[in-house]
Amino acid sequence: MMKLTQDEKNKLKKFQDRYPLLLELAKLSGVSSLELLMTVLDYKPAVADAINYTVELKRDIPRIKDLAQQLGLFFATSKYKYIVNSPRGIFEEIPLNDMQLGKIILAFSKFQDKAHKGAIYYHEKMLNSEYGYKFGKLMGYPECCLRFGNYLNNNICDPNNFGFKNPAVESLKRSKHFVWQLNVFTVSPIPHYPCSLTCKKSVNYVNKLLISLEYLDKERSVSLKTYLTEPASLYWTYADRILLYGTFKQKLLGEGEIQYHKIYPILISESIYQKVDKQQINQWHQIEKFLRIGNRLMVNDKFIRIYYNRERILEFSKENKYIPLLIKPDILPKNK
Ligand SMILES: [Zn+2]
Repeated sequence: MMKLTQDEKNKLKKFQDRYPLLLELAKLSGVSSLELLMTVLDYKPAVADAINYTVELKRDIPRIKDLAQQLGLFFATSKYKYIVNSPRGIFEEIPLNDMQLGKIILAFSKFQDKAHKGAIYYHEKMLNSEYGYKFGKLMGYPECCLRFGNYLNNNICDPNNFGFKNPAVESLKRSKHFVWQLNVFTVSPIPHYPCSLTCKKSVNYVNKLLISLEYLDKERSVSLKTYLTEPASLYWTYADRILLYGTFKQKLLGEGEIQYHKIYPILISESIYQKVDKQQINQWHQIEKFLRIGNRLMVNDKFIRIYYNRERILEFSKENKYIPLLIKPDILPKNK
């Protein structure tokens, strides 16, 4: 495991007392506590996200501003709300006081101009692919991953651009192996999609995150590490996956079989997006139901099958060989 420098240790020591404020900020704003932490500790320059602009969020904005200030962060918001259609991320812009539910963009940085740009670029990148790079640069993503991200830009507005819809799968296609720190298929510890599932720069970022978290919040670091290393993931999109715990046998990266004793569904498209494909979501919930009855799941490039002991209880053919994947890192920590 990576060691902290004396400078990093001093910074953590100085910050320790304010860590609860950061957790409160993450809770009220809906912005990732991990990304906020990495911003406060200077491992990344800024963080921005689109969050449902609810009555509660509106009420909490002054407190969010106050907490950000106590953490040494500037805070900026978009001047409009946005309606997001799953999974393409196409935006419709509406006024903040419109009755429809929409997302507001919240951005934080130690630099005022970066917080301000964060709130603007997040929206611009949906309309103009040039801003995909600019936004990623502003957020401090590694250059190799930014170049990979350029490929994902939907320059010709192709509604079926698979990479644009499912960047984790594009990372997988560029990978021979899959290191546990970059487990974007369970609970991702990184804010971007890595250029490959072994990207060194991204692994360094996660190591810094885990070692800082271990110092500040032992329990959280253990729980994050468990998500990264233990379950296999039946993965459709970043908002829709079912984690399975048991004995996993990989056939190819993304295909295999698991004898499982516990499942943990994370199917949250409906709470993230304003518009979703109901039929697809119903199918995922049906699979979830049968996984609860069964104890073995097999996924290859053509179908997914659920078994209870030897009996096959459900089978679906796949429309795309990558959706869904059954995947687990093949490079795990030494003690696992
Ligand atoms: Zn990379």
